[in-house]
Amino acid sequence: MKIETPVLVVGGGPVGLALALELGWRGVECLLVDELEREGYKTHPRANLVNSRTMEFCRRWGIAERVKEVGTPRDYPHTAMYVTSLRGHLIARIDRPQHGGDKAIAFTPEPPQRCNQIWFDPVLRERAEGFPSVTLHYRWRLDSFTQDEKSVTSSVTDAATGESHTIRSAYLAACCGGRSPIRRILGIDRNEGEALGTPVSIYFRARNLWDYHDKGKGVLHFIVGPTGVWATLNSLNGGDLWRVTLHGGAKEHAAPESIDHKDVLTRIVGTEFPYELIAISPWVRRKLVTADYRHARVFLAGDCAHQNTPTGGYGMNTGIGDAVDLGWKLAAALSGWAGPKLLDSYDAERRPVALRNVDEATRNFQLRSFAPIPDLVGATPAGEAARKRLGEEIAKSTSRELLSDGIAMGYRYDGSPIVCPDGSEPPALSVTEYVQSSFPGARAPHALLADGRSTLDLFGRAYVMLRLGPDAPEVTPLEKAAQLRGVPLEIAAIDEPTVCSAYERTLVLVRPDGHVAWRGEVLPADSSRITAQVTGGL
Ligand SMILES: Cc1cc2nc3c(=O)[nH]c(=O)nc-3n(C[C@H](O)[C@H](O)[C@H](O)COP(=O)(O)OP(=O)(O)OC[C@H]3O[C@@H](n4cnc5c(N)ncnc54)[C@H](O)[C@@H]3O)c2cc1C
Repeated sequence: MKIETPVLVVGGGPVGLALALELGWRGVECLLVDELEREGYKTHPRANLVNSRTMEFCRRWGIAERVKEVGTPRDYPHTAMYVTSLRGHLIARIDRPQHGGDKAIAFTPEPPQRCNQIWFDPVLRERAEGFPSVTLHYRWRLDSFTQDEKSVTSSVTDAATGESHTIRSAYLAACCGGRSPIRRILGIDRNEGEALGTPVSIYFRARNLWDYHDKGKGVLHFIVGPTGVWATLNSLNGGDLWRVTLHGGAKEHAAPESIDHKDVLTRIVGTEFPYELIAISPWVRRKLVTADYRHARVFLAGDCAHQNTPTGGYGMNTGIGDAVDLGWKLAAALSGWAGPKLLDSYDAERRPVALRNVDEATRNFQLRSFAPIPDLVGATPAGEAARKRLGEEIAKSTSRELLSDGIAMGYRYDGSPIVCPDGSEPPALSVTEYVQSSFPGARAPHALLADGRSTLDLFGRAYVMLRLGPDAPEVTPLEKAAQLRGVPLEIAAIDEPTVCSAYERTLVLVRPDGHVAWRGEVLPADSSRITAQVTGGL
């Protein structure tokens, strides 16, 4: 069979699904293939944390409420604790009332939500396949591809029938994860990054586990020994499903089957308890950012482009950010209004975000080990003092892994060729703190509108020029310049003090992905330069 599609998406993990969804939401035709019939990693539950930025994208796609429904219940605490065992000594406890729950957060309408990929990926899939322009084919494996100036020609095998298909597309999005065949075909697989460890996940079911200890409910339990955190216990659903990550993992155990899971789980809780083992899975903790996200008509996204240790919960969220950035740009290129540099800006904008997040995740991982503290687990005054010292240290430095709003929300596209700098001083970047700003390249601020919507609800389909305050000038020259290039532009006049103060300027131009493209008090003499630059035409 010969198939033609504007965009071939290879990989139906969360990133490929998010890209298909973003394209479908924009009415762009695409075909997604995945070699497996898989939904949400049923035997190896991976990502739990859907951060606020990803939840904001879900809000735009109309699935935020669904993710909340299938995720961890809102009243389950997002508490993290460091303990010698769950019945042992408490070293540090970090409550995160701003995660989950119903407490409003000033800078976002969408708090972070825990929703494991077991349930999150199917929500993405269901929404993506609801768009008439999106086709998903599972058990279709990409074997090879070639590209020329006009298109990419891919060879795909249908595992169910053994049939081969040729797919011709304008673009190919490689969302095929860490073991990507596309990196190999492109000849860029020599850099496999750095392996930071070989952990093992133990996935099990246990009802009311919190009844077997005195530390209360939590989502993350770091089990600490004299030389560092040796295991992490994660709640997957705020109920009966749990995953332990054994940090030493595969290095210490010749084969996963040889792991005495009963002994490990008893040591973690501090007592025996009834449980049902579901699966044991070894995996590799990697640090990798590929050198180029764009290879002519082929674009790398998600784990195919970058991999980090899950310490912090950045991998999937960073990948979904890639999908959103790439999605509107591919839509623009296919609609004919993209300038020649728009697609190049994907690498310029997203690669620096991955470099920052991968480094931060590695730093978090390195803090899991420390110089030996022999007294740590003892019920002695020396042990007490050692735990107090360590607890203080954790509160100071390690907790930044757990409170990383600056990573989730604060990334900016400084230096992007499609962002117009305004000469002002860039606000400081922080890992933990996120301060909203309309600085060019930043995520446009959230503020509540008088009608109860968020300013974020104004963005997505087109560029939006916000005219803020009672005296905001007309922007007719910009409208004409956009019309001339066929660029979708909407104008929103808002005279509400909280919105005006959040946006800092009288005119702010926001891109379809919700990032600020330009800001000022008045339009420059030649507005066409703005439209040219923000669409990659300068
Ligand atoms: C234990 C653990 C915990 C984690 N926790 C978090 C967290 O809390 N938050 C977070 O953000 N991230 C977390 N991550 C990372 C997250 O799981 C990954 O970043 C994410 O799954 C990557 O998504 P992806 O779509 O890029 O790739 P993948 O999920 O790997 O999907 C790639 C898809 O491509 C398909 N494919 C591969 N080759 C082909 C081919 N030749 N033809 C067709 N299809 C192909 C595969 O079948 C697969 O379905 C965690 C990871 C682990 C291991």
